[in-house]
Amino acid sequence: MSGQRTEREAAVTEVAEHGWTVARETARGYYIMRCACGRHQTTMHKTPRLSDHFRQKAAWMISQCSVRKDGT
Ligand SMILES: [Zn+2]
Repeated sequence: MSGQRTEREAAVTEVAEHGWTVARETARGYYIMRCACGRHQTTMHKTPRLSDHFRQKAAWMISQCSVRKDGT
């Protein structure tokens, strides 16, 4: 369980560089993620079935919205 948490925190740190932040944490421990422009939102689950879930999620989020991409 601690390993999954670490992977999620790593994903949160990765997308934070692109403007995504944790808007809030749900009662189930899910993260509601919100982008810098405010038009994109997604949920980070706590216990994904796929081991690379957070990496794929982070890549998807960055593809949807990134302050780095827009800033250049
Ligand atoms: Zn956005």
